[in-house]
This record gives sequence, C-alpha cells and structure tokens, in this order.
Amino acid sequence: MIKVVQGDITSLSVDAIVNAANTSLLGGGGVDGAIHRAAGPELLEACKTIGGCPTGKARITPGFRLPAKWVIHTVGPVWRGGGHGEAALLESCYRDSLELGSVNGVQSIAFPGISTGVYAYPKQDAAEIALSVMRQYDARFEAIICCCFSGEDADIYRELAAPGAAS
Ligand code: ADP
Repeated sequence: MIKVVQGDITSLSVDAIVNAANTSLLGGGGVDGAIHRAAGPELLEACKTIGGCPTGKARITPGFRLPAKWVIHTVGPVWRGGGHGEAALLESCYRDSLELGSVNGVQSIAFPGISTGVYAYPKQDAAEIALSVMRQYDARFEAIICCCFSGEDADIYRELAAPGAAS
C-alpha cells in the first residue's frame, strides 16, 4: 500500500527510512542533517566505512537510535534544467532504494522528496517519478510511505495518488 503522510521522517516507526544524502555520505543539511542528529554519531561512523555513493544509487546502514531499523541513503541528482539525465537518475534512486530494502527484508519504507530541497528538482515532476516507481514495487512491501515535510508537498502527492481527492 502506498501512503502519504505529513511530518518528520525521523519519527516514523518503519523498517527503513530513506535519506536524501550526498555522494560523500558524510552528512549534510535538510533531511540528511535531521536523520544524522536523530540516529546519533554511530550513523556517521557507519557511513564513513562505505566510502561514498554515486548519484542515482543507494546504500544501507542500521538506523541506530532511530525508531527505524535501517537507513537507506540515496543520492538524488542536482536539478540543472532537466537536460542532464535528472529524471532517469531520480527514478534510479527510488528503484535502487526499494531493491535494497527488498533484499534486506524491509516491509515498510518511508521516503522524503528526494532532490526536492536544496537540489531544487521541481516538486510535481519529482512526485510523479516517485509514485510511478513506488507503484511498480507496491506488491513487494506492506507499506511504502511518502513522507512529506510540508502540507503543500503532501497535497501534491495526495492529488497524484488519488486525483480529485486532495483536501
Ligand atoms: P536534497 O538535497 O536531495 O534536495 P533536502 O534534504 O534539501 O535534500 O530536501 C529533500 C526533501 O526533504 C525536501 O522536500 C525537504 O522539505 C524534506 N525534508 C527536510 N527535512 C525533513 C524531515 N525531517 N522529514 C521529512 N522530510 C524532510
């Protein structure tokens, strides 16, 4: 089942939360900073042993002090106008994260809007890509959660998930 929730992804009691990381995996601002603060310093230590992650790919670590058992770190593309393979890379982020969750026995997984913060990917286009990949993996999970930080973001997802039903 695909669900849309509004709130802070670090508070969710799910098997895995996905982090919008950068290629160094050594922490940053936005959701990345929030996840590192909530997980504790062990998360940075675990990320250091991985040695980075290419754009469009994903890596997994424990969740440490988070309610979530796992953190799946994926690196979204920086929006550069759309002509630099951004859509394929963003799709790959969702696909690789879901594959990694699946092989690690994850049944419930929550995503932030990858690339839609500092990386400036247009929110509507990003949500369409997210939902199209999520639908392909829906049957392999109990719950795939779109965790939206703002009400505006949640409205975009709700309208796309169930057109006409957004409040
Ligand atoms: P990126 O660099 O991939 O754009 P950001 O962290 O800047 O990553 O933003 C990605 C998305 O995560 C944005 O939509 C932002 O509003 C959202 N976000 C920021 N903090 C949180 C949080 N604690 N929980 C859920 N979503 C968050």
